[in-house]
Amino acid sequence: MSKTPRPPMKLKFRIPAPPSDGPVIEQLPAHKALVGGGAVHRALPQSKRRLIGGWCFFDHMGPMSISAEAMDVPAHPHIGLQTVTWLLSGAIRHKDSVGSDQLIQPGQLNWMTAGRGIAHSEEGETPAGQIMHGVQMWVALPDAHRHREPAFEHHPALPQRTFGGLRVTVLAGELDGARSPASTYSPLFGAELSVEAETPARLPLRPDFEYGVVVLQGGARIAETPLEPNVLVYLGRGRGALDVSGRPGTRIMLIGGAPLEEPVLLWWNYVFRDPEEALAARDDWAEHRARFPDVVGYAGGRLPAPPPFRVR
Ligand code: MN
Repeated sequence: MSKTPRPPMKLKFRIPAPPSDGPVIEQLPAHKALVGGGAVHRALPQSKRRLIGGWCFFDHMGPMSISAEAMDVPAHPHIGLQTVTWLLSGAIRHKDSVGSDQLIQPGQLNWMTAGRGIAHSEEGETPAGQIMHGVQMWVALPDAHRHREPAFEHHPALPQRTFGGLRVTVLAGELDGARSPASTYSPLFGAELSVEAETPARLPLRPDFEYGVVVLQGGARIAETPLEPNVLVYLGRGRGALDVSGRPGTRIMLIGGAPLEEPVLLWWNYVFRDPEEALAARDDWAEHRARFPDVVGYAGGRLPAPPPFRVR
């Protein structure tokens, strides 16, 4: 437990905006946050929109010179979610409490299922003078799967498709017969779109899925809307296709899925339904209990648990 008494934080959990039945364009600028000493642009959650399918968190890291910010995150816990790491540049070493030790590099996918509880560390291993650039996203596990055993997957290569001038790498779910090997527990989609030529592309979408896009670098025109980096665009449901064009070199994340119509709550590194679950998991981490074993082979210490909150 924390030795210095602090006034308990009060948390108010907002009801998220309902998924749109039809196509919309909602432009929601990402806000800045600090993670592991590095500045990120956080595109999800936002006060107006907390979920897109099962996606509940979206951090755009960099691009940044790692001489200034090494991007080290000490051992910390997660429950109720999956973490998804994807790099455009640089390298991160992942270690966790189920024994994984994995370097991730651009074009590869780290996909960690926290389930009932896992601890992991993330250490920047980008060589000096190179650029760190990537995303980390979280997927809320549906109720039927959120207490499952923790697991970690590394996928060194992912399926790709070409549409017009666009090369599409499928991170989650399926597109035009290209299916990601990542384990998903709700109907989910995620892809990186890389503009290789100015030829416009039309991507097939599922009308029953809601979607969102974030430009990571460059500039693009998506569903008739000109877009610059670090704006989350919520596209709603009811689209059978998405028109995309951009300057060569542009990189875009496209996320989507069937609306997860469950009362998902998020606090610190936890996704849960009842605030008492988060407080119990907070105490389990603070007291070093068996739910969160040590990160195997990591000597860099543990991130302290934040003070408990009070619900209002
Ligand atoms: Mn983490």
